[in-house]
Amino acid sequence: MNKFSKLLTGKERSHLCSSFMTKTLGASIHKEAVNSFLELRKEAGNHGFNLHIHSGFRSFEDQLSIWNRKARGELPVLNSDAIPIDINSLTDKELSFSILRWSALPGASRHHWGTDIDVYDLNAKPENYDIELIPEEVNQEGIFGPLHDWLDIKINEKSAYGFFRPYNMDRNGVVQERWHLSYSPVSIPFLEQFSIDVLHKAIKQSDILLKETLLDNLSEIFNRFIINIGKV
Ligand SMILES: [Zn+2]
Repeated sequence: MNKFSKLLTGKERSHLCSSFMTKTLGASIHKEAVNSFLELRKEAGNHGFNLHIHSGFRSFEDQLSIWNRKARGELPVLNSDAIPIDINSLTDKELSFSILRWSALPGASRHHWGTDIDVYDLNAKPENYDIELIPEEVNQEGIFGPLHDWLDIKINEKSAYGFFRPYNMDRNGVVQERWHLSYSPVSIPFLEQFSIDVLHKAIKQSDILLKETLLDNLSEIFNRFIINIGKV
């Protein structure tokens, strides 16, 4: 696998910002996304929001751990209404596609690229509250609703410094994720260069649970959960 394929599948870190900047931001992100994020954060600050990153870069191994724990039933697998499902009643394909609604396939997470971040408003977070990244937090009545209403305006005006929402609505692929932003100047070219072949190699080489089912259905997975996203 060449270096760029490794980057796309979460097996490379050379595209990420310095460890100093990682400390400043509280997360590691793509070096080319740093300045734009800082601009967005500054402007959010002028409107009373404290824009923070809950989750930035995740490696293939990080995502594999999430995937395998869900496949084993150690982490809850949710239905479209965020209610836990009894996974024993599912076929392998049903289980795989249920996990994919809320969690990316290792090798295909946009968080591998460092271009994509899950954000919240630190000013609105109650003390001792653990962020869950669930719809209740980010809908209009939710604690982070005002931040996201403001971000919607910025994104619609194309003044969000290149950030957009790939999961702005439920397209029967990944559920709506209002907390998830993507830095388009880098992530759009990355998605254009991502391919089923690269993903196939990453899955085949890994210790992932449900591997045969995933490889058998990879083209459907690619079309429904990876390229099926919102426009900038
Ligand atoms: Zn995310």
